[in-house]
Amino acid sequence: MKYSLTFALVLLIIIISLLNLFSSEKPDLEIFEGKLKKMAGEWFIISDGDFFQLNLAPEEYLKENNLTLTSKQQIKIEGITVDEVINVYLVHANDTIIELRDSAGNPLWQEEKQVGHFQINPKMCIGCQLCVSVCPTDAISMVHGRAIIDAEKCIDCGICENGNGDYKGCPTNAIKKLE
Ligand code: SF4
Ligand code: SF4
Repeated sequence: MKYSLTFALVLLIIIISLLNLFSSEKPDLEIFEGKLKKMAGEWFIISDGDFFQLNLAPEEYLKENNLTLTSKQQIKIEGITVDEVINVYLVHANDTIIELRDSAGNPLWQEEKQVGHFQINPKMCIGCQLCVSVCPTDAISMVHGRAIIDAEKCIDCGICENGNGDYKGCPTNAIKKLE
């Protein structure tokens, strides 16, 4: 009796492990087809009337893979949407498929540490534009009612997050320094 219980337990553990293995194999990628648009240094896709920011790969990685993006270019991408930003796994362009992330979502390029840079969570932004008016380098623009930071213009001064003078920082805490 004791042995059969142990056997059943071991069998159950094996079945659960196998189920976990198969379920974590591949994420369900959403497919988006539409036109590309570049605004404030960031890429967006307009697909079926919806507007999403794209989390692609560094320019160097795209160039190495002969992927040149232009505004108004018709494109198909596969990815996962997080807070209205699409983490792009695959790009279908010029009759080829370019892979940007593996099935676990890990980037296929050597990741540069983004620590210290500022980012705005689009879900928390209420579009008040206060951060836009205080940024000393005009790095923040409004896109479809939400603020975004152009990383190329940002000097990481932190004013948008922490405030300056009458501006006491983002009222919804949507701006965060990456740590
Ligand atoms: S201050 Fe905050 S809520 Fe207002 S536009 Fe900037 S990010 Fe959005
Ligand atoms: S950290 Fe400074 S430069 Fe960068 S977006 Fe915020 S206010 Fe502008």
